[in-house]
Amino acid sequence: MSYTITDACISCGACAEECPVEAISEGDERYVIDPELCIECGACAGVCPVEAPVAEE
Ligand code: SF4
Ligand code: SF4
Repeated sequence: MSYTITDACISCGACAEECPVEAISEGDERYVIDPELCIECGACAGVCPVEAPVAEE
């Protein structure tokens, strides 16, 4: 399991700066999280202005 970024993302880049394991990178239409790297710390969700990062069940 990992966090994932929804369509709500406005590509501000704040989450990528906060991620402790550099799992977030800029994709074509939104930022994306590498599920192999994510440690589910929630930091990205904490800084996102539009609550785009969500925990996958
Ligand atoms: Fe990075 Fe933590 Fe967000 Fe996973 S939950 S992408 S480790 S900031
Ligand atoms: Fe997208 Fe939120 Fe990350 Fe900004 S902080 S790039 S809006 S997911």
